[in-house]
Amino acid sequence: SAGSDENDVVVIGGGPGGYVAAIKAAQLGLKTTCIEKRGTLGGTCLNVGCIPSKALLHSSHMYHEAKTSFAKHGVKFDNVQVDLAAMMGQKDKAVSGLTKGIEGLFKKNKVKYVKGYGKLISPSEVSVDGLDGENTVVKGKNIIIATGSDVKGLPGITIDEKRIVSSTGALALTEIPKKLIVIGAGYIGLEMGSVWARLGTEVTVVEFAPDIVPSMDGEIRKQFQRSLEKQKMKFMLKTKVVAVDTSTDIVKLTLEPSAGGDQFILEADVVLVSAGRNPFTAGLGLEAIGVETDKIGRIPVDKRFSTNVKGVFAIGDVIPGPMLAHKAEEDGIACVEFIAGKEGHVDYDKVPGVVYTHPEVASVGKTEEQVKELGIAYTVGKFPMLGNSRAKSIDDAEGLVKIIAEKETDKVLGVHIMCSNAGELIHEAALALTYDASSEDIARTCHAHPTLSEAVKEAAMATHGKAIHI
Ligand code: FAD
Repeated sequence: SAGSDENDVVVIGGGPGGYVAAIKAAQLGLKTTCIEKRGTLGGTCLNVGCIPSKALLHSSHMYHEAKTSFAKHGVKFDNVQVDLAAMMGQKDKAVSGLTKGIEGLFKKNKVKYVKGYGKLISPSEVSVDGLDGENTVVKGKNIIIATGSDVKGLPGITIDEKRIVSSTGALALTEIPKKLIVIGAGYIGLEMGSVWARLGTEVTVVEFAPDIVPSMDGEIRKQFQRSLEKQKMKFMLKTKVVAVDTSTDIVKLTLEPSAGGDQFILEADVVLVSAGRNPFTAGLGLEAIGVETDKIGRIPVDKRFSTNVKGVFAIGDVIPGPMLAHKAEEDGIACVEFIAGKEGHVDYDKVPGVVYTHPEVASVGKTEEQVKELGIAYTVGKFPMLGNSRAKSIDDAEGLVKIIAEKETDKVLGVHIMCSNAGELIHEAALALTYDASSEDIARTCHAHPTLSEAVKEAAMATHGKAIHI
């Protein structure tokens, strides 16, 4: 059985945090087992998160482009149609290919994979309720909790994943709804709203706060919201959901202004609850071995990802910090580097964030609001995609690049990009921040022509001088 011999590292959870930690640990010569309850590896990200959402964003974008833009490029169709089942099939194929790929990587790196629900019974033992019905105890000198997160519901709203859905249900609808209400204007709600809006659904986003995506630079956010509105997404900000009525064919949401006021009713075929995610530690046995959690259920860790219990570590969505797959992966690598007696580090101030709508919005480092609040003297360089020849040549020139640099030293503090492929463009900015580069360093780096990336160089030129093409 899995428990007969002791591991150096036992990872509970096979998401991007857990599976990457397991592979890295094995690569560092540590005997490693990974326990996952889902039946497939890859966690939220591969199964019901990043990957299926990007598959649907791509497919729905293709449809939308075919319908609205191909003709002007001289590509004509008689009748463009959506085959939703085929679109979902394509998404499912992407997911299953990638999750099986991780099983392959486990084999290649000699990570032992145990399918089942893990529960801590001591700081060096995990009891596993196997998916095959067997019960085993897996022992490890070090245990890494990588159990991730789960959908946060809203009080009084029951998610049935058919008419009242979480992101998981919104990724698997079997019909295109006529009307969709998205509760919560975070990146997940906006991405899923975009998918269905492109396929013809009337989408209304209801948000309690005054702004969409609160972490975004304010100037970029305004342009982003306008862009989504042009794509026919409606926004009801400063609005809260009071009640949901599912007793008839149509779902009725009772809403009222966040600050109080007259209630009103909005109807929809489907309601997506995307009000955030909670750390997931149910049935994990944390109390039994004394691992502390904070007020919202996250597991606090020190710089070495150690919990308050020696030998027990935690990484990814279940600990404080940005709830993103690449952050979970960075945590995983650093955590096992420490366990292996090496150094590791993750800088949460330099984790890029991307919203994969069209245009995409990507950012790394500080927003202008944050720099102001810190009282740092700064300069801003901006370059609109309208001045970028590649963007113009492909007729996709919405958006801009904005670079914020420290006034005195020209050090890059934050970069915010809204354009097609912004999620790819952001990484030279992440590198600049990691190496404390100045905006002049970016401006003096030769960028290939014609590329969208030239807009980053031009914004950098504008930060301490002038751009050329505007
Ligand atoms: P998870 O991926 O949640 O993995 C944890 C795993 O642990 C799960 O598979 C779970 O089954 C397993 N588990 C839990 N408890 C136990 C137990 N006791 N025993 C055994 N196994 C257990 N992030 C991005 O960076 N980019 C994106 O584009 C993006 N898009 C997203 C879209 C959606 C719709 C959603 C919902 C999320 C998205 N995210 C995205 C967030 C991303 O999915 C998470 O940040 C990431 O998956 C966190 O990784 P993790 O390894 O910490 O946890």
